[in-house]
Amino acid sequence: MIDAIVGGVAIAGVLSARWNWWRPTTQGLPTLMYHKIGEHPPGSKLAKLWVTAQDFLRQMNYLKRHEYTSVLFSELRDAELGRRPMPERPVLVTFDDGYANNYEAAFPILAETGTKGNIFLVYEAMERHNSWHDPSSEPWMRMLTWAQNAEMQRSGLVEFGSHTMRHADLARLPLEEARWELNESKKRLEDKLGREMVGFAYPYGAGALVPEVRRLVREAGYRYDFSIRQGISPWPWDPGSGPLKRLLVRGDDTGFDFHLNMTRGKARF
Ligand SMILES: [Zn+2]
Repeated sequence: MIDAIVGGVAIAGVLSARWNWWRPTTQGLPTLMYHKIGEHPPGSKLAKLWVTAQDFLRQMNYLKRHEYTSVLFSELRDAELGRRPMPERPVLVTFDDGYANNYEAAFPILAETGTKGNIFLVYEAMERHNSWHDPSSEPWMRMLTWAQNAEMQRSGLVEFGSHTMRHADLARLPLEEARWELNESKKRLEDKLGREMVGFAYPYGAGALVPEVRRLVREAGYRYDFSIRQGISPWPWDPGSGPLKRLLVRGDDTGFDFHLNMTRGKARF
């Protein structure tokens, strides 16, 4: 009997250390952060940033089953301006960098499940490779083409934001160069896509908490800046409270991790 109780306490202790099941349910704007969809290449040291198509499909079905409504950047803006209300349970699905597999593997699943997604593009990498990565730790991948971007945008299921010109580490650049990365990518993306770019994600999350850098982001005209800080930001969101938080989806996440992320804003320590 005592053994059983002690065992139960021990198990509960292990569970609470591993899982944040005890955290209160968080409401707000859960924002999922993806990078690459598919099987990771052999030898990848960033394998956890790859989510298989099967897992991605499962996760998009979870959103449907739990009655989340996926939204686009323009819909955040519409809600903010009072043009239309935010859905009761909104979710933002975001992808960083703009890999070709977002079109090849993720877009068909977005279409199949009727889910909307938002992709942060690195302007100069489009139609090329993710050459900011050290190829010895992660083989270079093909990036999206402008034709693929146009097709996704036409579908009404995908919108785009900026992730700078060259995947810049904004915390390390002189401010003038950081300003150029922000302003130039916004202008070029708007020219190519014919839409206002209201969303911005900090490459590496760098600079998100540096007031001077963040001021440049606002001055460039971005309305929503996204960090890689784990959590769920409240909605309506006060830009003065800091950049929007996100939920990193890892390739080795279980369905339970995903559920905890969505409801508690945190899956693991
Ligand atoms: Zn990135």
